Amino acid sequence: MELMPNFDLHRPTEVEEAVKLRAETDGALYVAGGTDMIVNVRRGIEQPAALIDLSSVQELQEIVEDNEGLHIGASVTLQTVTNDRRIQAEYTGVAEAAAAVAGPTHQSYGTVGGNLCLDTRCLFYNQSEWWRKSNDYCMKERGDICHVAPGGKRCFAAFSGDVAPTALIHNAEVDLVGPNGRRRVPLTDIYRNDGMNHLAIEPGELLTVLHLPKTEAGQPSAYEKARVRGSIDFPLAGAAVWLKQVDGKVEELRIALTAVNPYPQLVKKLDKFSGTKLDDSALDEIAEMVQSQAKPMRTTTVKPWYRRRVVGAIARRLTAKLSEAR
Ligand code: SF4
Repeated sequence: MELMPNFDLHRPTEVEEAVKLRAETDGALYVAGGTDMIVNVRRGIEQPAALIDLSSVQELQEIVEDNEGLHIGASVTLQTVTNDRRIQAEYTGVAEAAAAVAGPTHQSYGTVGGNLCLDTRCLFYNQSEWWRKSNDYCMKERGDICHVAPGGKRCFAAFSGDVAPTALIHNAEVDLVGPNGRRRVPLTDIYRNDGMNHLAIEPGELLTVLHLPKTEAGQPSAYEKARVRGSIDFPLAGAAVWLKQVDGKVEELRIALTAVNPYPQLVKKLDKFSGTKLDDSALDEIAEMVQSQAKPMRTTTVKPWYRRRVVGAIARRLTAKLSEAR
């Protein structure tokens, strides 16, 4: 790790003030819990001229409940989400995902917004300055080549947030506030399949609220991930499952994956199981569909083929568990 570089630090108290500062300050970045961002700054990956600390913006730290559902401020900590009884009961997978992020100290600082906007990760990118320099960096940061797919033009760094897949299966939306005002979009719209630039949000926009709709509440959902060290690590592969059954048959099944692509990915074509019972044959087919749609690359110390098999197994196991829950 390098020493912290010099930068200006701003502490706005209103969202609009934060957005204005960001628009007026070249090279500024938002920071909330900083559990990933500050590591990247100390590794020289991020070189901000200024940090806009969001910890004093009260509006971002509230969870509001109304007829539409739960509205979670972007600076609400993962620990708060884990312990919130409404989220545990109505959006169980989201609480499980927050509890699965890193370790307890990270969860007490790390935020919902930070986890949703987490930078993509790669074995050749999340390294110290001297390590990356000795390898001529890579396309994602100061370099010309990709060490994962030499000769390629794309970056395959993996999105490794835990909360996003669980929010996706609950059809979540987010508020974005930028120089052009506030807009509300489906969460799925803020991600793109590009490890170098995986957030499809406008320059300077700030994610302020995660909306969990009431219509999706109360159905069984779950999240699980595989990692090298069970007490702290990012996921090597993770899956979130949401299941609605009527009379023992599937009405709707949703599965989302993390850490096996540059974006959190909703599994496609699961509507084929609507109206069917989830027997062993169906569960095997679900595992195969997940494996075929997951595209992990050589971005971690663990082999892609293993991560693909693991993510299929997790999705199968969670689907079986939820199908037996009712
Ligand atoms: Fe760099 Fe390639 Fe890894 Fe992207 S996938 S971070 S370009 S080495």
